[in-house]
Amino acid sequence: MRWTENTHKNSGCPILAASLFLPLGWDSTNSPHVLGSLILTSIVSSLKRLTPLLASILLLALTIPAFAQAPPATANRFVVVLDAAHGGDDSGGTLKDPSGVANPEKAITVALSVRLRSLLAARGISVVTTRESDSAVDDDRRAEIANHAKAQACLSLHATQSGSGIHIFASSLPPAQPASIVPWKTAQAAWVTRSLALAGDLNSALLHAGMTVTLGRTALSSIDSMSCPAVAIEIAPEIPSGHSEPVSPSDSGYQTRVAQALAAAILEWRSNASRTEVANP
Ligand SMILES: [Zn+2]
Repeated sequence: MRWTENTHKNSGCPILAASLFLPLGWDSTNSPHVLGSLILTSIVSSLKRLTPLLASILLLALTIPAFAQAPPATANRFVVVLDAAHGGDDSGGTLKDPSGVANPEKAITVALSVRLRSLLAARGISVVTTRESDSAVDDDRRAEIANHAKAQACLSLHATQSGSGIHIFASSLPPAQPASIVPWKTAQAAWVTRSLALAGDLNSALLHAGMTVTLGRTALSSIDSMSCPAVAIEIAPEIPSGHSEPVSPSDSGYQTRVAQALAAAILEWRSNASRTEVANP
């Protein structure tokens, strides 16, 4: 991963599939609120044949349980955005595995995104992705997707041949108070404190999994425009204990271990309700 703004240049603005904006597993046609409304409409037609007073009493009694079955408020939904960096003409860096095969960073990031998405979905967490194929997505579009999702966490995934272990970066913007009008380029400022807390949970889970972690802060145009807890995670080669040769980020076993640790961190993050409230950053 290169951290200058030139690296994360716009590489086109593809039209993303509408399904990317829908949290997995959400089907509004089956929601209890919709079903309750349909049943209530049917009952109201029947009540029209009764006396007005009796109809009002019965309608009131039936309405209370119908609303009690309404789905939780939007603020209670927990959504994670997975942002596979690069894509399309923007290949990112090039990583060579031990056999000498060169892998573009863009392929590694989307592979890790898919692994992590599966782990999170299996734990009942809604996931929105910025891309799931080799498509170009510019930085503003990535931020738009994250902000539209009102996510409680956004992980921007990168890979590099440089260094070792896992590098976690939060925005270098100074923390700012929430404001009614938020500048697009510095929207993250109001969320930096929470992003640092998210980085802390990720750091703990990765260390617990026996990995080397480096924490840092940097300017990254897509994350700096995000109005949610957001961090960039960069995977570098690791040297497992008892081994002398490093394992490349393109290694499927390495990716799985990283994804499992990240999923554990997200579960820990979700468990702290005070951090995941969306309305007031
Ligand atoms: Zn990168």
